[in-house]
Amino acid sequence: MATRTTSPIAEIVLAGPRGFCAGVERAIDIVELALSVCPPPVYVRKEIVHNRHVVEDLRTKGAIFVDELDEVPDDATVIFSAHGISPEVRAEARGRGLHVIDATCPLVTKVHLEAIRYARESYTIILIGHADHDEVIGTLGEAPDRMVVIDSAEEVDRLEVSNPEKIAYLTQTTLSVDDTRDVIDALRRKFPKIVGPSRDDICYATQNRQAAVKNIAGEVDVVLVIGATNSSNANRLVEVAETVGTRAYLINDVRDIRSEWLAGARRIGVTAGASTPEVLVTEVMDALHRDGATVREVRVVDEDVRFALPQELEQLARQRGATLPSRPTPRQSL
Ligand code: SF4
Repeated sequence: MATRTTSPIAEIVLAGPRGFCAGVERAIDIVELALSVCPPPVYVRKEIVHNRHVVEDLRTKGAIFVDELDEVPDDATVIFSAHGISPEVRAEARGRGLHVIDATCPLVTKVHLEAIRYARESYTIILIGHADHDEVIGTLGEAPDRMVVIDSAEEVDRLEVSNPEKIAYLTQTTLSVDDTRDVIDALRRKFPKIVGPSRDDICYATQNRQAAVKNIAGEVDVVLVIGATNSSNANRLVEVAETVGTRAYLINDVRDIRSEWLAGARRIGVTAGASTPEVLVTEVMDALHRDGATVREVRVVDEDVRFALPQELEQLARQRGATLPSRPTPRQSL
């Protein structure tokens, strides 16, 4: 890419936290550890996280990515992605005797458990999220007959439920905090008896990354968000920056930067979605920094979240007489 602009870039402002969250770290660790202890081939259903660089890297290490379980041979090892799966898929794997390792983020599992509880108690569940996202497809599968998916406050007006006294809401973990608040407010206005989880389902990583980009967006001319086009949380970072009135662009990597975006810009903000490796941030920084701009990182919070590995990974290793290597240190550079 060409970063030359009519006036040189004076400052690059890096949002912190950015990039990998604990659920993504754990999912990548699971695939790498499975490759080290399970006999090949090791299959992964769907993208382990929504980032093609991560997927390509794991593919070169031996992981085989498939869309559906019918592409996985009997008796093979299969890993479920961080976004979670519906019980139907889990049952199919069990029925086929596949060796399953579940890399579903524990914060997604929490939403599944809430869905199961509300469904058991005969609630109609309004799931706020994007109907075509893997996470929502998985959550919806917990109680498809009791759940309705909506993704905007406008849709609340059109909602009809059989018993407005028995209604609950849940959310996808990677939504816009502000937009979701609007949807929940609209739901509460229309259904005063609606109940929801005691703590927001929008995960800590999504909230922190949105707070961080909002914090820097007002003081820069352009924000570059590094992340995949199918990454929900990366797309939300673009929207959050735009709500502050700042132009924002989603890029897969440094090659996507267009020089006209930066024309006349003196300050550039940079952040990355929760499934974006820090190496892609470094590449962007190196390209922007060529003109001698100063770099300043603005952090809104420190993160120290780390999730335990799934027990089935240790069991699989034990069955095969292997010991799990120690877990790599977190990849975040902050
Ligand atoms: S973005 Fe949140 S819910 Fe998704 S994997 Fe990361 S921590 Fe888990």
